[in-house]
Amino acid sequence: MARITQGMNPGGLKDNAAGQRKAFKKLVKKLQKMPSGKLDLMVHQMHDDKFREAHCMECANCCRTISPIILWQDILRISKYLKEKPSRVMDRYFMRDEEGDFVFKGQPCPFLGSDNYCSIYPQRPRACRDFPLTDRPRFYKTLNVSLKNTAICPVVYEIFQDLHQQLS
Ligand code: SF4
Ligand code: SF4
Repeated sequence: MARITQGMNPGGLKDNAAGQRKAFKKLVKKLQKMPSGKLDLMVHQMHDDKFREAHCMECANCCRTISPIILWQDILRISKYLKEKPSRVMDRYFMRDEEGDFVFKGQPCPFLGSDNYCSIYPQRPRACRDFPLTDRPRFYKTLNVSLKNTAICPVVYEIFQDLHQQLS
């Protein structure tokens, strides 16, 4: 997937995003006032363009750093895929967080291999399929989480940079 552009490697991304935090926060306020359909068109086009060039296998930063909410249906699908009992899969790979939601046991994700392959890719959780949300309808609803994702996903960072340039 995404080619991580020069200076956009995951290590430096956190610092870059922190440096742009103020500008991106202003941008979010501007984007919240835009018609939802227009914003979706812009962001979805950027998403498609950038992920056409992207190399997620060279990055895997989301799989290393995020612990998304996992649905019970995800655990059932993964158990079937691994041919193991849901209770065993639950014990080995998942736990409940302080809100009672299922999350991965530890980070990086226990299904991420040293070669950056996901060992359950065809049955990966819904949250993994949806990340980084930049192709979802009603993007305005995820502006604040996307702002946080600028420090995790180089593609989201680039989308925010492009939007910032286009709208300033
Ligand atoms: S399940 Fe797969 S896609 Fe999801 S975080 Fe783990 S390694 Fe990444
Ligand atoms: S953080 Fe973004 S670019 Fe990196 S692997 Fe995840 S989706 Fe791909």
